[in-house]
Amino acid sequence: MHYLDANATEPLRPEARAAMIKALDIGGNPSSVHATGRAARRVMEDAREALAARFGGEAGDLVFTAGGTEADALAIHGLGRGRRLVIGATEHDAVRAAAPEAAIIPVHANGLIDLGVLDTVLAATGPALVCLMLANNETGTIQPIAEAATLCRAHGALLHVDAVQAAGRMPVSLKGLGAHSLAISSHKLGGPIGAGALLLAPEVTAISPLIRGGGQERGRRGGTPPVATIAGFAAAALAPEGATDLGALRDRAEAAALASGATIIGCDAPRLTNTTCLALPGARAETQVIAMDLAGVMVSAGAACSSGKVAESHVLAAMGLGSLAGQAIRVSLPWNAARASIDAFAEAYARMADRMRAGLVPRAA
Ligand code: PLP
Repeated sequence: MHYLDANATEPLRPEARAAMIKALDIGGNPSSVHATGRAARRVMEDAREALAARFGGEAGDLVFTAGGTEADALAIHGLGRGRRLVIGATEHDAVRAAAPEAAIIPVHANGLIDLGVLDTVLAATGPALVCLMLANNETGTIQPIAEAATLCRAHGALLHVDAVQAAGRMPVSLKGLGAHSLAISSHKLGGPIGAGALLLAPEVTAISPLIRGGGQERGRRGGTPPVATIAGFAAAALAPEGATDLGALRDRAEAAALASGATIIGCDAPRLTNTTCLALPGARAETQVIAMDLAGVMVSAGAACSSGKVAESHVLAAMGLGSLAGQAIRVSLPWNAARASIDAFAEAYARMADRMRAGLVPRAA
């Protein structure tokens, strides 16, 4: 089987596995004052320092969470009180569901946020919290966050950045972006599922917690932290870049798909090098995913949703793709992608396109 669904979750990096086993052997609750508790706390604080430094912040400003969804929700609930919420049209459901009343900023046809509309909306509202993603999970589109941050600051708005898909795949710095908070997630960068973090800018001195519990994380997130998971998270984030040129492999996959009649979505905007979104006019996304799976190639249709069913992509709809929005698959290369997987993809895709043209694949309505 060939795994090309890294944006759903990355394979565990060996550095993360080793760090987790070491931390599991230590055991302990980091809140305990005895020696084992102190050893667990050391592991956790080392991870905090490493992650904060890696993503352009200070250790004291990093709050561990259970993942990217919680980090986004903590930012929205914790920083958004008394502020108008403003989000991009292609945000992940982690943000959309936490901000149901938000003003929505449209994107251009290439998926990039319309900064002119953002400027107008911020000029017309009072204090705001703006939430924008750095890289999109379905298309890989990289947003002009530094420009958005300048606008936000000019209007006195806070900016929360969802860097869940970007972290580990491109340089990411909270300070460099000029944002007020940044969400990251362990399993999207090769760590274990079950940990994430919200990194706050030093100027953000207070955040109200979502979970109070026993006052852990300096009162910002209650609950006993999963020390081994956190150790794996940090080890994955610090893992050296592999020798594989993911961009070259992605381009090879795209060339093969184009030759089979595909359209590449959002290819004229900056994108993550591991991601491509391919529309095959006439075939439903779900049908394509199943056809590829039968050929041993694992891809997805838009965002993986908890029920396993494929919902119409709000990202592609926001880009104005109309019916094509239901006919696109996401191919996302993991950190350990191999050339053989791309060749398997190319062969399976060509066969699927041929079968569709021969009327052997159910056509989209
Ligand atoms: N934000 C983006 C852009 C994502 O792609 C995801 C997950 O796919 C999340 C947030 C949620 O992260 P997690 O799975 O760690 O809760």
